[in-house]
Amino acid sequence: MKPKVFVTRQIPEIGLARVREVCDLDLWEHEDPAPYDQLLERVRGVDGVLCTLTERIDEGLIAAAGANLKVISQMAVGYDNIDVRAAHARGIPVGNTPGVLTAATADLAFALLLAAARRLSEGVQYIRDGQWTTWQPRHLLGADLNGATLGIIGLGRIGKAVAQRARGFDMNILAYSRHLTDEEARAHGATRVDLPTLLHESDFVSLHTPLTPDTRHLINRETLAEMKQTAILINTTRGGTVDPHALYAALRDNVIAAAALDVTEPEPIPLDDPLLTLPNCLIVPHIGSATVKTRDKMALMAAENLIAGVTGQPLPTAVKLG
Ligand code: NAP
Repeated sequence: MKPKVFVTRQIPEIGLARVREVCDLDLWEHEDPAPYDQLLERVRGVDGVLCTLTERIDEGLIAAAGANLKVISQMAVGYDNIDVRAAHARGIPVGNTPGVLTAATADLAFALLLAAARRLSEGVQYIRDGQWTTWQPRHLLGADLNGATLGIIGLGRIGKAVAQRARGFDMNILAYSRHLTDEEARAHGATRVDLPTLLHESDFVSLHTPLTPDTRHLINRETLAEMKQTAILINTTRGGTVDPHALYAALRDNVIAAAALDVTEPEPIPLDDPLLTLPNCLIVPHIGSATVKTRDKMALMAAENLIAGVTGQPLPTAVKLG
């Protein structure tokens, strides 16, 4: 008999096809995520769960799945929606999809950086509002990348890929993460600094840490006040790394110049969120890894982790907690 698995979202077909080769697949039939109570029902008795960042996989859900559960495979590199400790306590490995989405996410971070620096969304709006009557010598002036300083918080896989792109734009690069050495920073064209120095000296600050208790609201009223008045904040990590109320106040009061966000707290951002009223805040709907090839690779990698787990093999990419 094939192992029973539940896949929580309509992931790319290449991943589903691979899962079907080995497993008896129950697939959440709707495009929108399953409500928690539905998840509880559907995981009951399964051997494996393939999930995404829209599902809360907590201790209650892991318990509801029951004694057959052998693996939780997440189609994302971040896993802040999963209680990994609770899973590990029951001997259940958790898989994620590191590496395959690094380039796509770094590209999106750079797209946001360029868009915010050159005020693209304001320009688009200006045309749509019928205001483009002539070339303007002093209008929509943005920031240069060339010679500017980019501060990368979290010089991991994606942070390093962002540094690689920044070198092509002749930017100076500062980097901060907890275990970063001078040598490692230098190898990526960056200078290792502490967080206050990075915040003080950067023209652009880009976040690339996971969301953890330590990084929750890492960007807050105090850290925003440390940044340059001309600084631009880029967030492609998780919405929870930035205090949205503090960010709104900082953008409104010109404490910093602009922000470009792929991720928000909460997601989706409510239509009446004040951040959406600000011309200097560009927001896109969590599309960091959203390219055809990248999502296919993520789906396949998540499928392989799931299959390994339900067949008693070590996961190709398992989450290890420090
Ligand atoms: P990674 O290789 O593990 O890099 C994470 C980096 O953050 C490491 O350099 C780590 O170094 C640093 N870090 C962790 N805790 C820190 C702290 N408290 N203060 C400062 N630095 C800290 O992960 P990755 O593959 O680059 O992915 C990073 C995150 O991007 C993911 O966790 C996910 O949330 C997000 N992401 C978003 C999208 C999207 O669609 N927008 C797509 C992919 C990934 P130390 O441990 O030395 O501090």
